[in-house]
Amino acid sequence: MNFSKSIAAYEKAKPLMPGGVSSPVRSFPSVDLSPIFMDHGKGSKIYDIDGNEYIDYVLSWGPLILGHADKKVVDFIKETVEKGTSFGSPTQLETKLAELVVGRVPSVEKVRFVNSGTEATMSAIRLARGYTGRDKILKFEGSYHGSADSLLIKAGSGVATLGLPDSPGVPAQLAKDTLTVPYNNVERVVDVFKQYGHDIACVIVEPVAGNMGVVPPVDGFLQALREITQAYGSLLIFDEVMTGFRVAYNCAQGYYGIKPDLTTLGKVIGGGLPVGAYGGRLDIMSQIAPEGPIYQAGTLSGNPLAMAAGYMTLSELTPEDYSEFRKKADRLAKGYKAAAEKYEIPLTVNQAGAMMGIFFTDREVINYQCSKSSNLEHFKTYFAQMIEQGVSLPPSQFEGVFLSTKHSMEDIEATIHAAEHAFQVIAES
Ligand code: PMP
Repeated sequence: MNFSKSIAAYEKAKPLMPGGVSSPVRSFPSVDLSPIFMDHGKGSKIYDIDGNEYIDYVLSWGPLILGHADKKVVDFIKETVEKGTSFGSPTQLETKLAELVVGRVPSVEKVRFVNSGTEATMSAIRLARGYTGRDKILKFEGSYHGSADSLLIKAGSGVATLGLPDSPGVPAQLAKDTLTVPYNNVERVVDVFKQYGHDIACVIVEPVAGNMGVVPPVDGFLQALREITQAYGSLLIFDEVMTGFRVAYNCAQGYYGIKPDLTTLGKVIGGGLPVGAYGGRLDIMSQIAPEGPIYQAGTLSGNPLAMAAGYMTLSELTPEDYSEFRKKADRLAKGYKAAAEKYEIPLTVNQAGAMMGIFFTDREVINYQCSKSSNLEHFKTYFAQMIEQGVSLPPSQFEGVFLSTKHSMEDIEATIHAAEHAFQVIAES
């Protein structure tokens, strides 16, 4: 494959933007390759500026569950943009999307739209602190909840990829209020609650962790969080920015049957445009201004184009799509495992709905410690080999692989075939 135009584009971007990019992992920091600049996408495929074609499993890091440039989504955005881009007044599109969110997410009775997942989690944390009158929060090591100060502690995703567990610039006074324990470890949660329980405003958790690779909750983990937060008067926040409408039709909370107090959303609910949201119990959400005293606002929040993309995306999704995702993910997992066995490559595959994580280890991966111990050199070779064969994956072990309704069984088989070759190269290296 020829990447000369991407390489030239990167040289031009580098002096102008940190790392030449608008978000760190896009610079391919851990895979020793120059980032690839995209030109366009359609369905399950993307095309770079050199004209190379890829089956895309990044899907803009999750939002594009209907694939690239879905016709109905694009048409509805076009229809909406013709009427103007933003008003700073309410529009009926917000209500339409709110109806879908409240109707589909079991615990959400009222919702506030914002512009990103980071804004959603940051605002939900403020709400939890304001509602409980407490300052401490509990999060899990290797979980990523966006780049707000309180949440950049022992974070996953790009923070893990770059090895920056605690970012400079986060005030120590604030960092001390963020408590962390390993994911899936109820005992440690209980210990922390014994010590600090009455000062803890909330536990924020990805109901399926997706930023240390994909790590589903072990049996009883989410239930234990529900019980302990209730016992201590703390709030339980499910960060469903990644899992929302991706793991299941009613989000991860519907799938696992646990109702958090607050939920944060993003990615899929914006259908590829910048949207986030937080919502939950009426008595808590009514504390938000203008109904209550806890302030949060946004010039472009509820932007009509973003609402249009989100509304059409959620409208198109059906419960049957999620059975299809499962079938495709099962086939992908089976194919990967068979290929790994053939070349004696240690491999663990974790799945949750339209998300999948593969780890170069033969250990079960239940937390960040396990995920970190997988073979990152193997990952680098695998990633480069997959790119060469026209498969676009997230460029880090600490990210998930996403499916869309447009991925065909042919795409899946071609991907398995490419992985088999990549594993052969790893075995021979
Ligand atoms: N929470 C989770 C679980 C996420 O995966 C992400 C982004 N990957 C965020 C929050 C932050 O969302 P955004 O990048 O839209 O700010």
